Amino acid sequence: MLELRPTCEHCNKRLPPHSTEAMICSFECTFCRDCVRLLQNVCPNCGGGFTPRPIRPLHDWKNGNALPRHPATTRITHQPVDLQAHAAFAALAGELSPEQR
Ligand SMILES: [Zn+2]
Ligand SMILES: [Zn+2]
Repeated sequence: MLELRPTCEHCNKRLPPHSTEAMICSFECTFCRDCVRLLQNVCPNCGGGFTPRPIRPLHDWKNGNALPRHPATTRITHQPVDLQAHAAFAALAGELSPEQR
């Protein structure tokens, strides 16, 4: 199940489950929109692109498939990116669109 991480991995900004600013890569690396822009849509951990994180329903519309039963994790992943090192990586990986990487 998708791990809803509580903050941006780079700037540690709060990204609650209902945030429309949360972006994830396919491995659930989680960043805010500003940082994704800064990272040039290249995940520093895997090189993949980002998409908006889906919002898990707050209300139990069906079979308990909702936030209360499947809450966000409280474990913070905060590992600021070395932006200088990332620039070279992003130049390389960013040459390709995410679907070609
Ligand atoms: Zn951020
Ligand atoms: Zn990633």
